[in-house]
Amino acid sequence: MVYFFNTSIESFNFTKHGTLMQTNNPSREYLLDYSRDEMKKYIQDMDMAPYRLEQLMKGIYVQKLSDFSGLTTLSKSLRDTLNKNVTLRTFKELKTIKSDNDGTTKFLWSLHDGLKIESVIIYEGTRVTFCISSQVGCALDCQFCATGKMGFLRNLSSGEIVEQVILMMINADKPATNIVYMGMGEPLLNLKNVIKAGEILSDPEGLAFSRKKITISTSGIAPAVRKLADMNTPFSLAISLNAVFEKKRRILMPVSKSYPLDLLLENIRYYTSKTGKRVTFEYILIDGLNDSKKDADQLIKLTAKIPCKINLIPCNSNDPNYPPTPNERAKWFADYLHQRGRTSTVRLRKGWEIQAACGQLYAKNEKTIGRKISESSKLITHV
Ligand code: SAH
Ligand code: SF4
Repeated sequence: MVYFFNTSIESFNFTKHGTLMQTNNPSREYLLDYSRDEMKKYIQDMDMAPYRLEQLMKGIYVQKLSDFSGLTTLSKSLRDTLNKNVTLRTFKELKTIKSDNDGTTKFLWSLHDGLKIESVIIYEGTRVTFCISSQVGCALDCQFCATGKMGFLRNLSSGEIVEQVILMMINADKPATNIVYMGMGEPLLNLKNVIKAGEILSDPEGLAFSRKKITISTSGIAPAVRKLADMNTPFSLAISLNAVFEKKRRILMPVSKSYPLDLLLENIRYYTSKTGKRVTFEYILIDGLNDSKKDADQLIKLTAKIPCKINLIPCNSNDPNYPPTPNERAKWFADYLHQRGRTSTVRLRKGWEIQAACGQLYAKNEKTIGRKISESSKLITHV
C-alpha cells in the first residue's frame, strides 16, 4: 500500500485524512519550539491571561490542532490574532508508505526550508515505537547507514522534533508506547534541542509521554554520554556498538577515531553507575563481518560490568558490502550471548520491504549531500 501526497499549492498540503495542513510562514512564531515556560512568557507578552496557558497546551498537544481556528475556548478575535502571529505546523507530508506485512509506516517530510527528513512507526505486538530524526542527515559517515551517505545538513529544532511525534500520533493506528531517536542524525550532537523536545513531549499538561520511554540513541559521542550522566537525564540511552574491535569499528563507524571504544565504554560505565540505569546496546549483524564467535566473546567481555540489554539487528542495507547475518546465525549469536548472561534479542527485519532503515527513503528521493566527519572534525569536538 502506498500513499503519495504532493501538491502544487506551495503553502498547503493535504494529510492522509484529507485535512488541510498549513505550512510554516517563517515570519510567524513556531509554538512547538516553546517549552512551557517560554509559552508562559509568550502569553504574558501578548497580554493574555495566565489561564490561557492551559487552554493553549490542550489545543496544541491534546487536541493536536494544526491552527487555532478550532480552539473554541478562545474568543474569535484571539484565535485570529494567534493564527496571524504563530504557526503550529511547518512540515509537508511528502510521502507515507505503509507495509502490508507488519504495518510499519514510514514518513518523508519536507521542512520549511525544503530539506527532508524521515520518521517511522513500528508495530511489534503491544509495542508501538515512533522512530524520530534529530538532524537532517548525519556527519558521522557510518558505512552501513543510508543517512551517513547524506552527510550533515542541519540540526532540527526542538519543535521540528516534536512535530514529527504529533503528526505520527495523528496518523498511527495505536498510541505510541516508545519514542526512539533512531531516525536520521546523531542526537548527542544536537543535545540541547533533543533534551528540550523530550521535556516538551513529556510535559504533564501536554502529551505527557513517559520520560523513560524516550530513548536517545548514540553512535558513541563519549563526552556527551558523560554529560547525560551528570545531568542525571530522565531519558533512556542506547548505544550503537556494531563492532567490538577498535580497528574494525573505526572502519565501520569513523566516530570511533575521535571517541575510541575504551573511552566510550568508560563513560558508559560512569553513566550506569551514576544514574543507576541500564543501557541498551544496538548491534547490527553483518554477515561474516561482525558475527563470529570471536566477536560474540569480545562483546561479552566489553559489556561485563555494564547493566545492559543487547539488541541484535540483522543489517538492512541496499549495499551488497553489508549483507545481513542469516536468521539462523543471528539466533545462534543471541543464544550464545544469552547463555553467558547477557539479555539479548534479535529484532526482526521490520519494514524491510519499505526501506525502514534510517535514511533509505530519503536516499531514494533526494541527492543533496552535506558535510561528513572526514571534512569537518569540528562537528564532533565540541559537545
Ligand atoms: N545516530 C544515532 C541514532 C540514529 S541511527 C546512532 O547511530 O545510534 C539509529 C540506528 O540505526 C543505529 O542503531 C544504527 O546502527 C542503525 N542503522 C543504521 N543503518 C542501518 C542499517 N543499514 N541496518 C540496520 N540498522 C541500521
Ligand atoms: Fe549517523 Fe547513526 Fe547513521 Fe551513523 S548510524 S551515520 S551516527 S545516523
